Amino acid sequence: MSTTVETAATAARTAPAAVIVAIDGPSGTGKSSTSKAVAAKLGLHYLDTGAQYRAITWWMITNGVDVDDVGAVATAAAKPSIESGTDPAAPTITVDGLDASGPIRTQEVTSKVSAVSAVPEVRTRITELQRSIAATAEGGIVVEGRDIGTTVLPDADLKVFLTASPEARAARRSGELKGKDALGLAATQDALIRRDAADSGRKASPLAKADDAVEVDTTELTLEQVIECVVTLVEEKQAAA
Ligand code: C5P
Repeated sequence: MSTTVETAATAARTAPAAVIVAIDGPSGTGKSSTSKAVAAKLGLHYLDTGAQYRAITWWMITNGVDVDDVGAVATAAAKPSIESGTDPAAPTITVDGLDASGPIRTQEVTSKVSAVSAVPEVRTRITELQRSIAATAEGGIVVEGRDIGTTVLPDADLKVFLTASPEARAARRSGELKGKDALGLAATQDALIRRDAADSGRKASPLAKADDAVEVDTTELTLEQVIECVVTLVEEKQAAA
Protein backbone atom coordinates (compact mmCIF):
# COMPACT_ATOMS: atom_id res chain seq x y z
CA MET A 1 0.00 0.00 0.00
CA SER A 2 2.62 2.51 1.11
CA THR A 3 4.85 1.40 -1.81
CA THR A 4 2.07 2.25 -4.26
CA VAL A 5 1.61 5.67 -2.70
CA GLU A 6 5.37 6.34 -2.74
CA THR A 7 5.67 5.17 -6.37
CA ALA A 8 2.84 7.43 -7.47
CA ALA A 9 4.33 10.36 -5.57
CA THR A 10 7.76 9.78 -7.09
CA ALA A 11 6.27 9.51 -10.56
CA ALA A 12 4.39 12.77 -10.06
CA ARG A 13 7.67 14.48 -9.08
CA THR A 14 9.70 13.11 -11.99
CA ALA A 15 7.23 12.96 -14.91
CA PRO A 16 6.99 16.23 -16.87
CA ALA A 17 3.59 17.86 -16.33
CA ALA A 18 1.10 17.41 -19.17
CA VAL A 19 1.33 20.40 -21.45
CA ILE A 20 -1.69 21.85 -23.26
CA VAL A 21 -0.94 23.90 -26.38
CA ALA A 22 -3.69 25.87 -28.17
CA ILE A 23 -2.99 26.89 -31.76
CA ASP A 24 -5.62 29.14 -33.36
CA GLY A 25 -5.89 31.16 -36.55
CA PRO A 26 -7.68 31.34 -39.89
CA SER A 27 -7.24 28.74 -42.63
CA GLY A 28 -4.12 28.69 -44.77
CA THR A 29 -1.80 29.89 -42.00
CA GLY A 30 -0.11 26.47 -41.68
CA LYS A 31 -2.02 25.59 -38.50
CA SER A 32 -2.54 21.89 -39.22
CA SER A 33 0.96 21.16 -40.53
CA THR A 34 2.52 23.13 -37.67
CA SER A 35 0.34 21.58 -34.95
CA LYS A 36 0.93 18.01 -36.14
CA ALA A 37 4.70 18.50 -36.43
CA VAL A 38 4.99 20.19 -33.02
CA ALA A 39 2.99 17.39 -31.38
CA ALA A 40 5.11 14.72 -33.10
CA LYS A 41 8.41 16.40 -32.10
CA LEU A 42 7.37 16.77 -28.47
CA GLY A 43 5.60 13.42 -28.11
CA LEU A 44 2.18 15.01 -27.55
CA HIS A 45 -1.30 14.10 -28.74
CA TYR A 46 -2.86 16.19 -31.53
CA LEU A 47 -6.45 17.30 -32.11
CA ASP A 48 -7.81 18.92 -35.29
CA THR A 49 -11.02 20.61 -34.12
CA GLY A 50 -11.85 21.84 -37.63
CA ALA A 51 -12.14 18.18 -38.66
CA GLN A 52 -14.80 17.70 -35.95
CA TYR A 53 -16.87 20.65 -37.25
CA ARG A 54 -16.43 19.29 -40.77
CA ALA A 55 -17.51 15.83 -39.59
CA ILE A 56 -20.75 17.08 -38.03
CA THR A 57 -21.40 19.13 -41.20
CA TRP A 58 -20.88 16.04 -43.36
CA TRP A 59 -23.34 14.12 -41.17
CA MET A 60 -25.95 16.91 -41.57
CA ILE A 61 -25.55 16.84 -45.36
CA THR A 62 -25.73 13.05 -45.67
CA ASN A 63 -28.76 12.92 -43.36
CA GLY A 64 -30.71 15.53 -45.32
CA VAL A 65 -30.55 18.30 -42.69
CA ASP A 66 -30.79 21.78 -44.27
CA VAL A 67 -27.62 23.47 -42.95
CA ASP A 68 -29.25 26.91 -43.27
CA ASP A 69 -32.10 25.86 -40.97
CA VAL A 70 -30.65 26.75 -37.56
CA GLY A 71 -33.44 24.97 -35.66
CA ALA A 72 -32.97 21.74 -37.63
CA VAL A 73 -29.19 21.80 -37.15
CA ALA A 74 -29.62 22.52 -33.42
CA THR A 75 -32.05 19.61 -33.00
CA ALA A 76 -29.75 17.20 -34.84
CA ALA A 77 -26.53 18.35 -33.15
CA ALA A 78 -26.52 15.60 -30.50
CA LYS A 79 -27.20 12.73 -32.92
CA PRO A 80 -23.90 11.83 -34.64
CA SER A 81 -21.20 10.00 -32.75
CA ILE A 82 -17.86 11.65 -33.57
CA GLU A 83 -14.52 10.15 -32.60
CA SER A 84 -11.08 11.66 -33.13
CA GLY A 85 -7.81 9.69 -33.03
CA THR A 86 -5.04 11.90 -31.63
CA ASP A 87 -1.82 10.34 -32.95
CA PRO A 88 -0.12 13.22 -34.83
CA ALA A 89 1.42 10.71 -37.28
CA ALA A 90 -1.99 9.33 -38.23
CA PRO A 91 -4.92 11.41 -36.92
CA THR A 92 -8.33 9.87 -37.58
CA ILE A 93 -11.93 11.01 -37.57
CA THR A 94 -15.00 8.78 -37.64
CA VAL A 95 -18.71 9.58 -37.70
CA ASP A 96 -21.02 6.83 -36.47
CA GLY A 97 -18.07 4.47 -36.88
CA LEU A 98 -17.38 5.44 -40.53
CA ASP A 99 -14.05 6.89 -41.66
CA ALA A 100 -14.85 10.53 -42.53
CA SER A 101 -11.33 11.74 -43.32
CA GLY A 102 -11.95 11.92 -47.09
CA PRO A 103 -15.55 13.21 -47.29
CA ILE A 104 -14.95 16.06 -44.81
CA ARG A 105 -12.47 17.72 -47.23
CA THR A 106 -14.93 18.11 -50.13
CA GLN A 107 -15.83 21.53 -51.49
CA GLU A 108 -19.44 20.99 -50.38
CA VAL A 109 -18.46 20.47 -46.73
CA THR A 110 -15.99 23.38 -46.86
CA SER A 111 -18.70 25.72 -48.15
CA LYS A 112 -21.23 24.66 -45.48
CA VAL A 113 -19.11 24.19 -42.36
CA SER A 114 -19.24 27.84 -41.23
CA ALA A 115 -23.06 27.81 -41.12
CA VAL A 116 -23.14 24.60 -39.06
CA SER A 117 -20.33 25.64 -36.70
CA ALA A 118 -22.10 28.93 -35.90
CA VAL A 119 -25.03 27.09 -34.26
CA PRO A 120 -24.63 27.26 -30.45
CA GLU A 121 -25.89 23.67 -29.86
CA VAL A 122 -23.22 22.39 -32.26
CA ARG A 123 -20.50 24.39 -30.50
CA THR A 124 -21.58 23.21 -27.03
CA ARG A 125 -21.54 19.59 -28.16
CA ILE A 126 -18.17 19.78 -29.94
CA THR A 127 -16.56 21.90 -27.19
CA GLU A 128 -17.47 19.25 -24.58
CA LEU A 129 -15.92 16.59 -26.78
CA GLN A 130 -12.72 18.65 -27.20
CA ARG A 131 -12.39 19.30 -23.46
CA SER A 132 -12.80 15.64 -22.59
CA ILE A 133 -10.17 14.63 -25.18
CA ALA A 134 -7.73 17.25 -23.82
CA ALA A 135 -8.37 16.22 -20.21
CA THR A 136 -7.51 12.58 -20.89
CA ALA A 137 -4.53 13.10 -23.24
CA GLU A 138 -1.68 11.60 -21.26
CA GLY A 139 1.47 13.74 -21.47
CA GLY A 140 -0.34 16.63 -23.13
CA ILE A 141 -1.85 17.70 -26.42
CA VAL A 142 -1.68 20.26 -29.20
CA VAL A 143 -5.19 21.43 -30.08
CA GLU A 144 -5.72 23.49 -33.23
CA GLY A 145 -8.78 25.53 -34.13
CA ARG A 146 -10.41 28.95 -34.02
CA ASP A 147 -11.55 29.36 -30.39
CA ILE A 148 -9.27 27.03 -28.45
CA GLY A 149 -7.36 29.73 -26.55
CA THR A 150 -10.41 31.92 -25.97
CA THR A 151 -13.15 29.40 -25.15
CA VAL A 152 -12.33 25.69 -25.26
CA LEU A 153 -9.11 25.66 -23.21
CA PRO A 154 -8.68 29.14 -21.70
CA ASP A 155 -6.16 27.72 -19.19
CA ALA A 156 -3.87 26.25 -21.89
CA ASP A 157 -0.16 26.40 -20.98
CA LEU A 158 0.68 28.05 -24.28
CA LYS A 159 -1.55 29.85 -26.77
CA VAL A 160 -0.34 30.63 -30.28
CA PHE A 161 -2.28 32.62 -32.88
CA LEU A 162 -1.04 32.13 -36.45
CA THR A 163 -1.68 34.73 -39.14
CA ALA A 164 -0.60 35.26 -42.78
CA SER A 165 -1.56 37.57 -45.62
CA PRO A 166 -4.68 36.56 -47.60
CA GLU A 167 -2.49 36.04 -50.70
CA ALA A 168 -0.13 33.66 -48.89
CA ARG A 169 -3.03 31.77 -47.34
CA ALA A 170 -4.84 31.30 -50.66
CA ALA A 171 -1.63 30.17 -52.38
CA ARG A 172 -0.99 27.59 -49.64
CA ARG A 173 -4.59 26.29 -49.69
CA SER A 174 -4.48 26.05 -53.48
CA GLY A 175 -1.13 24.24 -53.25
CA GLU A 176 -2.56 21.74 -50.73
CA LEU A 177 -5.25 20.83 -53.27
CA LYS A 178 -2.41 19.84 -55.65
CA GLY A 179 -3.90 20.84 -58.98
CA LYS A 180 -7.39 19.81 -57.85
CA ASP A 181 -8.32 23.37 -56.91
CA ALA A 182 -11.54 23.43 -58.91
CA LEU A 183 -12.13 27.08 -57.95
CA GLY A 184 -8.79 28.54 -59.09
CA LEU A 185 -6.54 30.79 -57.00
CA ALA A 186 -8.62 34.01 -57.06
CA ALA A 187 -11.87 32.23 -56.18
CA THR A 188 -10.09 30.18 -53.49
CA GLN A 189 -8.93 33.47 -51.93
CA ASP A 190 -12.49 34.86 -52.08
CA ALA A 191 -13.94 31.70 -50.51
CA LEU A 192 -11.30 31.77 -47.77
CA ILE A 193 -11.99 35.43 -46.95
CA ARG A 194 -15.75 34.76 -46.85
CA ARG A 195 -15.23 31.80 -44.48
CA ASP A 196 -12.97 33.90 -42.21
CA ALA A 197 -15.57 36.68 -42.12
CA ALA A 198 -18.31 34.18 -41.17
CA ASP A 199 -16.08 32.52 -38.52
CA SER A 200 -14.92 35.87 -37.07
CA GLY A 201 -18.35 37.51 -37.18
CA ARG A 202 -20.49 34.82 -35.55
CA LYS A 203 -21.89 35.34 -32.05
CA ALA A 204 -20.90 31.97 -30.55
CA SER A 205 -17.15 31.85 -29.78
CA PRO A 206 -15.83 33.50 -32.96
CA LEU A 207 -12.35 33.12 -34.44
CA ALA A 208 -10.30 35.42 -32.19
CA LYS A 209 -6.86 35.85 -30.70
CA ALA A 210 -6.78 35.36 -26.92
CA ASP A 211 -5.25 38.31 -25.05
CA ASP A 212 -2.45 36.08 -23.76
CA ALA A 213 -1.71 34.35 -27.10
CA VAL A 214 1.62 34.76 -28.89
CA GLU A 215 0.92 35.99 -32.43
CA VAL A 216 3.14 34.56 -35.19
CA ASP A 217 2.87 36.05 -38.70
CA THR A 218 3.83 33.17 -41.00
CA THR A 219 3.68 35.09 -44.31
CA GLU A 220 7.46 35.22 -44.77
CA LEU A 221 8.32 32.05 -42.83
CA THR A 222 8.84 28.50 -44.06
CA LEU A 223 6.86 25.73 -42.39
CA GLU A 224 10.07 24.52 -40.69
CA GLN A 225 10.65 27.99 -39.22
CA VAL A 226 7.11 28.15 -37.82
CA ILE A 227 7.44 24.66 -36.31
CA GLU A 228 10.79 25.59 -34.74
CA CYS A 229 9.32 28.79 -33.34
CA VAL A 230 6.38 26.99 -31.67
CA VAL A 231 8.56 24.15 -30.35
CA THR A 232 10.84 26.76 -28.73
CA LEU A 233 7.83 28.52 -27.18
CA VAL A 234 6.59 25.22 -25.69
CA GLU A 235 10.04 24.33 -24.35
CA GLU A 236 10.38 27.77 -22.76
CA LYS A 237 7.03 27.29 -21.01
CA GLN A 238 8.03 23.83 -19.80
CA ALA A 239 11.37 25.12 -18.50
CA ALA A 240 9.64 27.95 -16.63
CA ALA A 241 7.03 25.62 -15.06
O1 C5P B 1 -9.61 24.31 -39.77
P1 C5P B 1 -10.65 24.02 -40.82
O2 C5P B 1 -10.54 24.90 -42.02
O3 C5P B 1 -10.72 22.57 -41.19
O4 C5P B 1 -12.03 24.39 -40.09
C1 C5P B 1 -13.24 24.23 -40.76
C2 C5P B 1 -14.29 25.14 -40.13
O5 C5P B 1 -14.63 24.65 -38.83
C3 C5P B 1 -13.93 26.59 -39.91
O6 C5P B 1 -14.10 27.38 -41.07
C4 C5P B 1 -14.89 26.99 -38.80
O7 C5P B 1 -16.16 27.30 -39.33
C5 C5P B 1 -15.02 25.72 -38.00
N1 C5P B 1 -14.21 25.71 -36.79
C6 C5P B 1 -14.68 26.37 -35.68
N2 C5P B 1 -14.00 26.32 -34.50
C7 C5P B 1 -12.87 25.62 -34.40
C8 C5P B 1 -12.33 24.96 -35.53
C9 C5P B 1 -13.01 25.04 -36.72
O8 C5P B 1 -15.73 27.01 -35.75
N3 C5P B 1 -12.24 25.54 -33.21
